[in-house]
Amino acid sequence: SEGRRPLVAGNWKMNGLRSSIATVEQVLEGLTPKLTDKIDVLICPPATLIASCVAAVTGSAIAIGGQNLHARANGAFTGSISAEMLADLGARYVILGHSERRAYHHETDNGVHAKALGARRAGLCGIICVGETEDEREEGRTLDIVRAQLGLGVPKGATAEDTVLAYEPVWAIGTGKTPSTADIAEVHASLRDMLGTMVGKAEADKIRILYGGSVKAKNARELMAVENVDGALVGGASLVAEDFLGICAAY
Ligand code: PEP
Repeated sequence: SEGRRPLVAGNWKMNGLRSSIATVEQVLEGLTPKLTDKIDVLICPPATLIASCVAAVTGSAIAIGGQNLHARANGAFTGSISAEMLADLGARYVILGHSERRAYHHETDNGVHAKALGARRAGLCGIICVGETEDEREEGRTLDIVRAQLGLGVPKGATAEDTVLAYEPVWAIGTGKTPSTADIAEVHASLRDMLGTMVGKAEADKIRILYGGSVKAKNARELMAVENVDGALVGGASLVAEDFLGICAAY
């Protein structure tokens, strides 16, 4: 991965009660220094658990992140949480534009762009998700779709410090299906190339591009070895410490 430090990120989605902090503690116990010398590890629990997860990992190699935010810093937005609030709890990353947010909460690329600016403002690293649907892939539109999402969603001046990309084919999320390694390589190369035109090649070469969609301990080694794949965004398999650790062990 040309000097890029891999990131293995868990997205718990709307799962987890206070008892689930034990899972974070188990991941912590299972990570060896040999591994954390090589990779960054991130867990994104529901917002209700961020503070207690941060407390559980303080001083360790695990970072904690949010799954969404409101673009504005504060105001009359009942039920919403700002980047500043996430940062205040000790979150360091935030997932933005996940396909479930796009599908169920009508998030647009422009909305993702505004949220990414919010994340940057508060010093969070935004993990911007892009990915085609099954129909779009069958119509041969994959590269057009993900490049449009990248072009509109990623703000000007993005850096490796404030931005991570995640390629998550919608049809691969939670389905047990994954693209071929050749298809993943094609998309990641195209995203890297487009990043180069947006932020310059030197910075584009530093920005991590994760693959997400049915990553499991069994397929992680093969998927993480693909050119331009700089880590994983993991849903289902991040809920069980043993499974998540099995993915980290791909490195
Ligand atoms: C996700 O939700 O980002 C995801 C990749 O889910 P899963 O690993 O369960 O496919």
